[in-house]
Amino acid sequence: MNKINSLYVHIPFCERLCSYCDFPKYLSSLNLEDKYLKALFLELDSIAKQNLKTIYIGGGTPSSLKEDNLNSLLSFLYEKFKGSEEFSIEANPESLSDEKIEILKANNVNRVSLGAQSFSSEILSILNRTNCNKDLVISRIRALKHSGIDNINVDFIYGLRIEKYEELEEQIKICRQEGVKHISIYSLQIEENTPLFYKKDIVKDQDGLSDTYEFLNKVLLKYGYKRYEVSNFSLEGYQSRHNLTYWRNKEYYACGLGATSLINSIREVRTRNIFDYIESKNVIVSSIKEDKEDREFNYLMLNLRLECGFKLEEFRKLFNKDFLISYKNEMENLKDFFEITSTSVKVKNEYLYILDSLLVDLLHFKN
Ligand code: SF4
Repeated sequence: MNKINSLYVHIPFCERLCSYCDFPKYLSSLNLEDKYLKALFLELDSIAKQNLKTIYIGGGTPSSLKEDNLNSLLSFLYEKFKGSEEFSIEANPESLSDEKIEILKANNVNRVSLGAQSFSSEILSILNRTNCNKDLVISRIRALKHSGIDNINVDFIYGLRIEKYEELEEQIKICRQEGVKHISIYSLQIEENTPLFYKKDIVKDQDGLSDTYEFLNKVLLKYGYKRYEVSNFSLEGYQSRHNLTYWRNKEYYACGLGATSLINSIREVRTRNIFDYIESKNVIVSSIKEDKEDREFNYLMLNLRLECGFKLEEFRKLFNKDFLISYKNEMENLKDFFEITSTSVKVKNEYLYILDSLLVDLLHFKN
């Protein structure tokens, strides 16, 4: 078995539900937290005690947990797995109180990802995130830094027709002034089973999205945030080590509602039904053993999301063949979009935005 270095833990509770969100989550007011955590600890117990390099608690909104539950979860995880390089948690500014920041610090959390999405009150209202605002985000960044946690990511969304370039730039400028180390920017995806699905025309068309992405890329660079993955930008030395585990197609543990793990080439997906999860009943809803062809497909699909691409030597070692020979025909048609050196292959920076269509031409998707 390969050494696994990472663990993902899912906390599916949110104080209110955003209009675009399709993640596995339930309202905190349903009071399922204690029962859920009991089942989560049971699942975590099934993993042997060991030192991991990265732990990532995502959601949902992990910072919405009650203080005693947050403390028990963090101390359990640190005691058992350490997270020696990166112990990360997602937080919403409105639920990240000073007391909770103290709990994070006391339990060795060293990276916090804040969900801001926008500093525009008009946009926050469309997203049903009116509890949050620019001043609150700034106040939480300052409180985190004051506690000694300075590895901070801020998440933003772009793509609404009403957004203004000046406001998008202002958000990034403020983050830089406040010492934020990492910014994730995602284009707003309207999922079928979300309230925004019926207002799809509030989102820019493909050309508009593409222009905005290009603009953001330039502005982020102007403020020192270098892109290292399609939607992720950081100051030097602050790339997310945990997320690099996924993009480099390495194996990882995962626990909690809707979470997917990859262990011994088996990709296991957990239920999104919280009542099944709480009863530890039918927890694994899909378990697929990846063959060599699947691993190669995933390796290319994920590594090509990275600005640095992949190393030809690594590909050769993993799959026992030469990429440039095996993909000679495909690359003949795609060569203008890729940068190929004697050691690596990557998508040219200006084409990273059309990565999905390049992958369709490069890889053989199964139906
Ligand atoms: S976007 Fe985040 S905070 Fe909003 S409902 Fe989804 S998981 Fe909860």
